[in-house]
Amino acid sequence: MARFSIPGFSDAEIDYYSRQIVLDSIGLSGQRKLKDARVCVVGVGGLGSSIVIQLASMGVGYLRIVDRDVVEASNLQRQHLYGVDMVGYPKVEAAAERVRGLNPFIEVDPVPMSVTPGNAEAIVEGMDVVVDGLDAMTPRYALNRACVKLGIPYVFGAVITNVGSVSTIVPGETPCVECFQGGIADDELPTCAVAGVHPSIISIIASIQVSEAVRLIMGRKPNLAGALMYCDLEDLSFERIELARVDSCPVCGSDPVSEPFPLKHGSFEEICGREGRRVFVFSPDEDLGVDLEALNGRLEGLGYLLTVRARLGTSFVRGAVKGSVLSSGVTVIEGVDGPEVARGIRAELLGL
Ligand SMILES: [Zn+2]
Repeated sequence: MARFSIPGFSDAEIDYYSRQIVLDSIGLSGQRKLKDARVCVVGVGGLGSSIVIQLASMGVGYLRIVDRDVVEASNLQRQHLYGVDMVGYPKVEAAAERVRGLNPFIEVDPVPMSVTPGNAEAIVEGMDVVVDGLDAMTPRYALNRACVKLGIPYVFGAVITNVGSVSTIVPGETPCVECFQGGIADDELPTCAVAGVHPSIISIIASIQVSEAVRLIMGRKPNLAGALMYCDLEDLSFERIELARVDSCPVCGSDPVSEPFPLKHGSFEEICGREGRRVFVFSPDEDLGVDLEALNGRLEGLGYLLTVRARLGTSFVRGAVKGSVLSSGVTVIEGVDGPEVARGIRAELLGL
């Protein structure tokens, strides 16, 4: 039981957070800053799961979580927000439900969308900190540009196989992502589906990101402002690389020498599938507000089996074709021969 009462906090909250309120680096004033903070976690896969669990449990008052995927069985090895009962559910819906169970004292705002160059600013606007749980560079660049423009600190994190890296971008003070990792096309990079990823490196990198985000919320200088921490699980080495702001950076430099790296809007793209199956993803820039009741009726009329009917999306299967439609209009179609077939199915399902 709490031994003292604090304005703005219930006894139950004081009890919940008691082990960090006693920390010198947080205390009661820090707990209030956490409660007042608005944080956006973009991507609730491996990194995002660990980040969201920690930030929610620490009491970040408003947590916006953004992801376009549904939970798959192959996620569960590392994405600890989810269990087998959530396979087929939109990740943000499953994550929000889990977070409400973890901490009833905070607000969680699930956004079932892809981050695109067309919507990144709208997604992060009004946030105090943005934390990266992504697995591709294009949406990171979109976020980085939005955060630099709006002056929002952005905690970058990336993992693959046994290695990971973290850096904290403070607009106007530190290098941005494109100063130190610019110009990388996603099709040049290995993916987790192909290369694999160890859950331990994810937890390490995610924990460093959370520590950085909390320092920002506390008003303290982040440890990785202007530096990249590189960790290799294989020999458990941590290497700190000091980064220099690039004056010629087309995103944050004072004297850009070139145009920013062009970003594909990616409203329609093919992503890597398993066992040679082709997977197509449609990502609208704006929330289309799909009527899921009507969609479900249409799916059943067309002979699809609905495997999950969730509040923010539906998953379905018919023969070799598998897919999901989220309330935002994000659509994944798997197991078809080519993009035209995928487009046709989506148009049929959404009544376009
Ligand atoms: Zn830059």
